[in-house]
Amino acid sequence: MPRRGTLAYMPSPGEVEYREYDLPTAPAGGLLLETLVAGVCGSEIHIFEGRHPVLKSVSLGHEIVGRVAELGAGVSADTAGTPLAVGDAVSVTYFRACRSCPACGRGEFALCTHALDGWLSDPEREPHFFGTMASHYVVDPRQWVFKLPENVPPAVAASANCALAQVVNGLERLALKAGETLVVQGCGGLGLYSVALAKERGVRVIAVDAVAARLERAIEFGADHTIDIGDLATPGARIATVRELTAGEGADAAIDVTGAPAAFGEGIEMLRAGGRLAEVGLVLTGAEATFDLGGMARRGITVVTAVRYEPRHLRESLEFLARNVDRLPLHLMIDGHYDLDQVEEAIADSAGRKVTRAAVFPTAG
Ligand SMILES: [Zn+2]
Ligand SMILES: [Zn+2]
Repeated sequence: MPRRGTLAYMPSPGEVEYREYDLPTAPAGGLLLETLVAGVCGSEIHIFEGRHPVLKSVSLGHEIVGRVAELGAGVSADTAGTPLAVGDAVSVTYFRACRSCPACGRGEFALCTHALDGWLSDPEREPHFFGTMASHYVVDPRQWVFKLPENVPPAVAASANCALAQVVNGLERLALKAGETLVVQGCGGLGLYSVALAKERGVRVIAVDAVAARLERAIEFGADHTIDIGDLATPGARIATVRELTAGEGADAAIDVTGAPAAFGEGIEMLRAGGRLAEVGLVLTGAEATFDLGGMARRGITVVTAVRYEPRHLRESLEFLARNVDRLPLHLMIDGHYDLDQVEEAIADSAGRKVTRAAVFPTAG
């Protein structure tokens, strides 16, 4: 009798079905993983609420740290050449790249036309386990795999393969220099990672949020200044505060991870002439913003976006965690722990902001 595994499938928005399938063997060039932890990303909330532009019926979950249950034919090392064995904990890119589309031809793997083909596959099809909110997960040979550094616990790396790597990509596009000032708009998971990564680069950080507890956490992650939207209720007051903190000039850069289109124009106004803004984590098409385009152009502002990330950003994310796991309260990022049969609660508590970041632990115990 083959062993069986369980996965959480969303047949339509707002519904969860737990399905059981025979465990597949690892595909040639890929892996079969046992899921140790699956993070609940902001995207899961959008997907579950039916607001995601593409994902309407899907196996839930894309953030993961898994333990190698079986190596596919030809696999003996991870993407960086580190030897890989059964039992090792790994992080994987949640998307794949086909290596046969125009974006892949340019080396822009994050933009591969077929990036989500695996995740979107019907679980009735083998190898069934395409989502991470499941007892098992199959890594396709077109994904990238990195062994977890020895000192990084799985729960700390749960969000590395989406949230953290996404921010590493966004900050790389801002090309921050030591001594510069960065405004971090929004202090959920993406914002806290932004604070910590920027501080490690010698950047001064001003963190903005409406939730006092999140701002306190931002200070624990190194923020130099905080702006509480509850205290400064108008964009004008917040922009004035950023200018006061930067000798009247404005910040060198900003990263908007609020997911709220209204924050974009405010971020632009917080910048100095020649400043740069990264728009990260806003994945809902149709989200329109009103802002002073002429003023922005006249001040020479650069806007960059980052969607997904290149494989190297996931490796950099894991190295960042290894350097900082003893220094920063990274283990507090996930403050909601759930079993596999509690996927709905995990998503609901995340949506209701009962927890900063939830995670499902399918192999609890
Ligand atoms: Zn995500
Ligand atoms: Zn491609």
